[in-house]
Amino acid sequence: MKLYSTGNKEETADFRTAVMRGLAPDGGLYMPSTLPVMPLSFWQTMRNRSLSDKARILFDLLLSDDFSEAERSEITRRAFTFDAPVVSLDERTHVLELFHGPTLAFKDFGARTMAAMMSVFARKEGETISIVTATSGDTGAAVARGFHNAPGVEVFVLYPSGQVSPLQEKQFTTLGGNITALEVDGTFDDCQRLVKACFADNRIREARQLTTANSINIARLLPQMTYYIHAVTGLMPEGTQEPAGGGFARPIVCSVPSGNFGNLTAGLLAHRMGLPVRRFIAATNINHVVPDYLSQGRFHPKPSLRSISNAMDVGNPSNFDRMLDLYGHDHQAMTSDIQGAWYDDRQTRQAIVEVWERYGYLMDPHTAVGYLGSRQHTAENEQGLILATAHPAKFPETISSLLPDAIETPEQLLEAAAGRKQSIPVEADLDAVRDVLLKN
Ligand SMILES: *Cc1c(COP(=O)(O)O)cnc(C)c1O
Repeated sequence: MKLYSTGNKEETADFRTAVMRGLAPDGGLYMPSTLPVMPLSFWQTMRNRSLSDKARILFDLLLSDDFSEAERSEITRRAFTFDAPVVSLDERTHVLELFHGPTLAFKDFGARTMAAMMSVFARKEGETISIVTATSGDTGAAVARGFHNAPGVEVFVLYPSGQVSPLQEKQFTTLGGNITALEVDGTFDDCQRLVKACFADNRIREARQLTTANSINIARLLPQMTYYIHAVTGLMPEGTQEPAGGGFARPIVCSVPSGNFGNLTAGLLAHRMGLPVRRFIAATNINHVVPDYLSQGRFHPKPSLRSISNAMDVGNPSNFDRMLDLYGHDHQAMTSDIQGAWYDDRQTRQAIVEVWERYGYLMDPHTAVGYLGSRQHTAENEQGLILATAHPAKFPETISSLLPDAIETPEQLLEAAAGRKQSIPVEADLDAVRDVLLKN
């Protein structure tokens, strides 16, 4: 796969280079130069395949120049070890559960695929690779778990002190070994800024072969296309040939609870390949700079505000440049595919209770934001597909205050909760972070 930078289309790279760099040298984000557009009949043949089969088919289509057949099998086998089932609440409201992996959130898919790819690269090159990543909660957990004990890979996780739920924190601070957690005295935006500063720092770059695992990395983004393909093809009725609705009597509208907009961007890429999705809903909490852009045509990044859907507390979404690039910076073109929507904590809490009372289904605060978007913006003659990005048991403080008897804690969480936190406290400045990176 050939990629270009959103900063400059002439700035191209092969897949391995783009994955190792994370960001392009000009500060842009990598985008695939071409994506094959597949006909409806292609998607229909996928209907009954497993999620991992669909991942393999996607990797064969996109990455056959970059990995051998054996490597593509190895990557799929190591990353896609759990399912992404669709639960239908009623005939036009579906929930795509992306939380059955080791850290109970969708980021497991991207992180595990990237880890499997890195292991292939590290083995081929016989070199140690250092991952530096910022997290508002779930990325750190997914990356730490995905890379734990991966040969030839060291991981440094930067997270904002006191702004990650205690359970989330446990998920990435208790592993030890090749995983180092840096507890930053600052916000998530500070952590993202520090990661960027590490990449620009010559002393760090001389000492370590650095890469990032944030959602800006193309290796995280591509595997996330898989579950859109899985859910949409799985919902296709047998044998229909109605190109207008893409094979659906009721076209599908995907509602994506969003923070850095990696998940939504992956859906847009699948859509570009011809996957029959009518529209996307970009659902956020009070950090609503993208819904504002969609409704007003102006993009104003802001400092992030705290909410109960804390993995979406992002004031300057890193994938927004990819969205702009996909639509050639044409606001009107983007708004014909994407509808913005945002909700505050009070509405989110109400939604959790409403869904529980109406359907007996428990949603986490992030998924509840997606539900609200879907409820408000999916028409009678459409069907909604809500991406459920985390398991509700990851947010016991919020859920137990609303529905004390509803939570069942999965074993993945019990294990993490039993571990001992190991983190290195640092100031929010590059000197402090550099010291840790050069010492460990
Ligand atoms: C990261 C995360 C999001 C936001 O995903 P983006 O790809 O950054 O938009 C939503 N929900 C949960 C639970 C997350 O962990």
